[in-house]
Amino acid sequence: MRCYECGKADYVPGTATETYESDGVTTIIIDVPAHVCPNCSDNYMSANVIKRLDVIRETAMKSGALFSVYRYGGDAPISLEAVAELIAVPHD
Ligand SMILES: [Zn+2]
Repeated sequence: MRCYECGKADYVPGTATETYESDGVTTIIIDVPAHVCPNCSDNYMSANVIKRLDVIRETAMKSGALFSVYRYGGDAPISLEAVAELIAVPHD
């Protein structure tokens, strides 16, 4: 399917990073299964994936942490040390 954003490429299966901010709480979710445009990085997710993201966001809001990073497949936040490593090592 053609990218809605740039119209120059087709979406391909990949992963995305979602960032949410509400009430002073920042939640980042990595490794989210998504359809990604190789040209402009626009992406969209299936309804099931969005449901799962909502569950993770709720968990994060209840945790009381002001900043947390979750992996899509995980139930507990990733430690900041692990996050630093993820940022340091280019993956893909
Ligand atoms: Zn695009």
